[in-house]
Amino acid sequence: MIRFEALTVFPEMFEPYLSSSIMGRARARGIFSFEAHDLRDWTHDRHRTVDDAPFGGGQGMLMKCAPFFEALRDLSRADLPHPHVVFFSPSGVRYDQSVAQRLAREERVLLVCGRYEGIDERALELADETISMGDYVLTGGELAALAVIDSCVRLLPGALGDEMSALDESFSDGLLEYAQYTRPADFEGRQVPEVLLSGNHAAIAAWRRKNSVERTARWRPDLLESAGLTEDEWALARCVMEQEEGRR
Ligand code: SAH
Repeated sequence: MIRFEALTVFPEMFEPYLSSSIMGRARARGIFSFEAHDLRDWTHDRHRTVDDAPFGGGQGMLMKCAPFFEALRDLSRADLPHPHVVFFSPSGVRYDQSVAQRLAREERVLLVCGRYEGIDERALELADETISMGDYVLTGGELAALAVIDSCVRLLPGALGDEMSALDESFSDGLLEYAQYTRPADFEGRQVPEVLLSGNHAAIAAWRRKNSVERTARWRPDLLESAGLTEDEWALARCVMEQEEGRR
């Protein structure tokens, strides 16, 4: 069982998501546990203050470093595995499926959520890594932490109903997933590709691989270089990329 914990000023934000749907079921089955810690428990003034104005001036408030140091000291107790500590920031390393796969192998992950204009830089020395969810700015790290938990948990054995479904999807082979269809085979004249109705498994697998290469070339050509394409697949990808160029 992997243990996730969050350090946050909004501990109540996590429960609705993590007790619903697949996350709720996986948690009930003991595939992961979750606990939120209120950063304000490590303050010592009457107002439980976690923020202050930045030295040097500027907009907004920053999170003070002291509560993070005190919290981490208490939470790194000897009776539990030492936590792998993740901070969140737009300046972090971009999160992707390979990071999810790596984190899913940890025993205990502590997700440290910033708010306001961010965190006093000195607290960053507590981080084993700093993760960015993408090139945009959120109001806090809580949504980022939930995205990490969700993407890790669904990789764990037994979390998804169908054991195969995490193996055969976007990024698992370095490509985007192929197009998928369900009934009806004809919706108001929009036909499902014939081969998918054929029952010919080899032909279906070949169509799907080709479709993955085409879609990746169209939408995410940056992924192609590390996807291990064959010569023929490269030729197809280049053809799609030229078409895309022409369309712009
Ligand atoms: N002033 C900061 C942004 C602070 S946003 C800056 O310009 O970098 C407040 C908090 O939200 C951050 O401390 C971080 O925990 C979280 N956050 C915002 N955007 C994020 C992103 N793209 N990825 C991960 N965390 C993010």
